[in-house]
Amino acid sequence: MIRANENYSKLKASYLFSDIAKRVNEYQAKNPEAHIIRLGIGDVVKALVPAVIEGFHRGVDEMAKDASFRGYGPEQGYLFLREKIAENDYHAQGADISPDEIFVSDGAKCDTGNFQELFAPDIKVAIPDPVYPVYLDTNVMAGRTGGFEDGRYGGIVYMDCLKENHFLPALPREKVDLIYLCFPNNPTGSTATKDELKVWVDYARENKALILFDAAYEAYIRDPDLPRTIYEIDGAREVAVEFRSFSKTAGFTGTRCGFTVVPKDCMIYSAKGEKISLHSMWNRRHTTKFNGVSYPVQKATEAVYSEEGKRQIKEQIAYYLNNADVIRKTVESLGFDYVGGKNSPYIWVDGKGRDSWEFFNLLLTQASVVCTPGAGFGRCGRHYIRISAFNSLENVTLAMERIKEALK
Ligand code: PLP
Repeated sequence: MIRANENYSKLKASYLFSDIAKRVNEYQAKNPEAHIIRLGIGDVVKALVPAVIEGFHRGVDEMAKDASFRGYGPEQGYLFLREKIAENDYHAQGADISPDEIFVSDGAKCDTGNFQELFAPDIKVAIPDPVYPVYLDTNVMAGRTGGFEDGRYGGIVYMDCLKENHFLPALPREKVDLIYLCFPNNPTGSTATKDELKVWVDYARENKALILFDAAYEAYIRDPDLPRTIYEIDGAREVAVEFRSFSKTAGFTGTRCGFTVVPKDCMIYSAKGEKISLHSMWNRRHTTKFNGVSYPVQKATEAVYSEEGKRQIKEQIAYYLNNADVIRKTVESLGFDYVGGKNSPYIWVDGKGRDSWEFFNLLLTQASVVCTPGAGFGRCGRHYIRISAFNSLENVTLAMERIKEALK
């Protein structure tokens, strides 16, 4: 008899964005004339920049001739791209990461979801609340949790991110083995300073733990004092894996490219306490289960690091950050507390005690604006909504005018 992995039955029945889509569709069906503005799901709206398109075309043209055609490439990514990443994202920040510590992939969702496969089933996992749901759900699928009760899975160490702690989790009281961190954060938009990250790096070194650091929104950091990679922190090479994505950096949500950094100094342990190289394990996993990102996409990604590419992408990110400013100013003028939007495309708004779905419904029905109810990201989000800056300036401006009118 073919038996199911019953851990899947522990997963919450519905997925946040399908719930939202259902409510939005119902509203649209009842109000066919309503022009709905979507500031919910974090997808970009701007076209790939010209330098990237040129790189993409060059890759496609090479595939059109036998002499330059490429078949299977290195699973870890072409060296031309890994070298550019090491130089621009790490060496430029004073972080010592070599190209062979970089694994190019089809995005950070797969990597953040798959990485937990390398660890024993009975490790203690610490996850922030609220959180990007992938970290949690993939640990549920792997059987590291109990059932879902009162908004939480048994067995997980939840790290509350609240106004009181400036949306930065405190070190867990009990000893944990694996820690997920994400800065700039999705959904809260909060950031962490070098000193704040150092606390986690020191904890991981003292406790033989590992940090999985999701830096998918690194490109949105405006404040020059904030770290752009966890490897700016002393000792992080021993205890941290970093995930990056070109989705929000360069508009690659539909193009698909990201990468994961696994330093050779990172060790994990056998039951007997013997050291095992995490780099070797991820290399084995990646080369066994993944066959590389397509050549034209890697050429397009390489162009992200050209002088023209860097300039054009900076302009695109400035566009979204300007949208975030418009949202922040509106939220502030309406007297709401919020975090984010300064070094992040997300603004996390405190609904003044309102339930997050109630706040979502209010904005949908009174302003035809879609946001994301914070409850979908965890129990600590139940009185918050997330507003995303990923839309046109025209739509963001109109949405904010409507929200002002609805809530005045
Ligand atoms: N990590 C975080 C925190 C995200 O918000 C997202 C996408 O929304 C991802 C990872 C996934 O990125 P990708 O498109 O590279 O799979």
